[in-house]
Amino acid sequence: MTVTGAIWRDQLSGDERAVLGRADDGVPGSRPDVLVVGGGIVGVSTAFACADAGLGDVLLIETGRLGAGATGGATGLLIPEPHQWSDPAPFVDLERASLQQWRDLQQTLPGGVGLVELDWLGLAPHASGFAAHQPRYVEWLNPGQVAELVPGLARPMEGALIRRQARVNPLRAVARLATRLPAVATGVAATSVDIRGDRIVGVGTSSGTITPGVVVFATGRPPVLDGLPLHIPSDRVKGHLLVTERTEVTLPGIVAPVGTQIENGQLLAGGTFDADDETPAVQPDVINAIAASLAAVLPPLRGIGVAYQWCCFRPRHPDRRPVIDRVPGLGNAWLTSGHFRTGILNAPATAAVLTSWIATGVPPADARTWSATRFGGR
Ligand SMILES: Cc1cc2nc3c(=O)[nH]c(=O)nc-3n(C[C@H](O)[C@H](O)[C@H](O)COP(=O)(O)OP(=O)(O)OC[C@H]3O[C@@H](n4cnc5c(N)ncnc54)[C@H](O)[C@@H]3O)c2cc1C
Repeated sequence: MTVTGAIWRDQLSGDERAVLGRADDGVPGSRPDVLVVGGGIVGVSTAFACADAGLGDVLLIETGRLGAGATGGATGLLIPEPHQWSDPAPFVDLERASLQQWRDLQQTLPGGVGLVELDWLGLAPHASGFAAHQPRYVEWLNPGQVAELVPGLARPMEGALIRRQARVNPLRAVARLATRLPAVATGVAATSVDIRGDRIVGVGTSSGTITPGVVVFATGRPPVLDGLPLHIPSDRVKGHLLVTERTEVTLPGIVAPVGTQIENGQLLAGGTFDADDETPAVQPDVINAIAASLAAVLPPLRGIGVAYQWCCFRPRHPDRRPVIDRVPGLGNAWLTSGHFRTGILNAPATAAVLTSWIATGVPPADARTWSATRFGGR
């Protein structure tokens, strides 16, 4: 039987699941020093970093449950190095810094964040199949070496091996971080802001008004709230994923474009970019195509059953880079949005940038790279 929904929740303990619905009292009339709006990985990481840095009372509000947006459906790969083929240098630098911060969290947080270290292997008929720009850490493998790592390939292929990348169950990471937050209110939506001069003095919510010192919006796409004049272009890109039934076929970590070895002998595959599909439903033909492509590359997977199938939407700005910025025209509000396909990876680094900016008032050196005004408009 195939479950329609991400596997991640089913991997959690009862305590971790309960944290995702954490709903502390005292939201109406509260006066937190820092209010974070949005309980995806970016909001939770930011609230954690602000609290950890001693920025005072930190309250996070989330309209649904924690991780209910893109976060809960992501693949959870933390793979900066392969992105050297596709992303500009400042972006890869952010990703690298963020993977290091994930590792630090894994070490320092009691129980860690569930980070799993693993290698990435890109399959290609020839090394030249990758862009001319070669990552620093790549080891080029001949077809014999690839076949030893991935027996049963449909045809001989060269490969690019990058060691020491990582992955997380995104919901476990959210739960582990959220356990340590001072105050969380799920089921609370921000609906409006009250602006006086260059400050937000009140945030209207479905549970009453909050009077924050500082606000951070981490709502996936830019927030749409009464009284907040923000016009940052964004859209969303649907993606499908599946997890196979248990199989004897094992992968040496992440094998692109096949899939990722996860717990219990299962494989995680997909991550499609389904342009122009705005429907929230899983499309069986897309799932069938992912399964067929698995078998085409690795014939032993022919006929493999699908245990989980799901889809979710990546928040995206036109240049595919996130916004990490102070809200234009406001002195006590920040926003981060449009993390597209690397929001899980980049959450801790984004949180660190915002926390430092809030604490010191000094923007990061590369602030323009992530600015909210780079698209024109306000
Ligand atoms: C198929 C797929 C695969 C992916 N794989 C990877 C991967 O391998 N690695 C990686 O790094 N990234 C991956 N991503 C991207 C990643 O999922 C996103 O970039 C990331 O989850 C964005 O996190 P976020 O916290 O910004 O947004 P979200 O997770 O969407 O969180 C925003 C939250 O804000 C809440 N919210 C919105 N408005 C309000 C409001 N007014 N009041 C209160 N709450 C509000 C929403 O309910 C939501 O929970 C993938 C995405 C998809 C779709």
